[in-house]
Amino acid sequence: MSESPARVAIVTGAARGIGAATALRLAADGFAVAVLDLDEASTADTVQAVEAAGGRALGVGADVGDAEQVQAAVDRIAAELGPPVVLVNNAGVTRDNMLFKMTDADWDLVMHVHLRGSFLMARACQKYMVDAKWGRVVNLSSTSALGNRGQANYATAKAGLQGFTKTLAIELGKFGVTANAIAPGFIQTEMTKATAERIGRDWDEYVAERAAAIPVARAGTPEDIAHTVSFFVSEGAGFVSGQVVYVAGGPRT
Ligand code: NAP
Repeated sequence: MSESPARVAIVTGAARGIGAATALRLAADGFAVAVLDLDEASTADTVQAVEAAGGRALGVGADVGDAEQVQAAVDRIAAELGPPVVLVNNAGVTRDNMLFKMTDADWDLVMHVHLRGSFLMARACQKYMVDAKWGRVVNLSSTSALGNRGQANYATAKAGLQGFTKTLAIELGKFGVTANAIAPGFIQTEMTKATAERIGRDWDEYVAERAAAIPVARAGTPEDIAHTVSFFVSEGAGFVSGQVVYVAGGPRT
């Protein structure tokens, strides 16, 4: 008897950080993984790591906020790996500033990547999920959705993603598609390193200070988030939809 082909998952922003850990985890769970990031060359390390662990991966370059690039990327993934039935909207940027200093460009870029990006990716992938009568969408929100000083743009986008997630859950549920969101707290990645640098803090000291305020007394890792993605996309999680799980070592921070 021949084995059925692996289901295909797309992870955006998967060149590094949470996206890279998620790509590795989903590959270990048996998915063929499209490792999507702005620049195809930047996906090489993640693709190699997946392959070295015995998985199947395809590196794809696209700006998730550009409709033509998204359509071309999803078409290529469907042709080369198979129909994408799992989508993890993880690509992200920060452009932090207090409201009075925040530029139009800071606001627009954050909306472009998180909101427009997640919308375009989900719209391009949903037909494959509906055709398969099975699918999983996981959107990366953040504890910043609850409000965070210096992040009017990011907090708005991350709160918006929660409404987007719940609406996808309602629209797509009857096709066997679930949609959920993960709201990470403080996770050690290039994104949080850049924040520490921007505010002039030593990284190790900054991590220790943040960890001291977290109930489980440590900073989060990309693997903590990948584990939660793995749960949401699992077969057994088919009755979990429209939810937001705060993965933050405590109730919110
Ligand atoms: P990261 O290390 O900065 O990685 C984000 C990746 O997304 C980068 O490889 C980046 O590529 C890519 N990207 C940016 N804009 C893109 C675009 N338009 N199209 C495609 N890819 C794009 O971030 P992370 O910390 O792993 O965060 C991953 C997700 O979790 C983000 O949505 C973030 O907001 C969310 N999150 C993170 C934390 C945390 O503490 N780290 C907490 C809560 C939520 P370039 O390098 O080329 O820009």
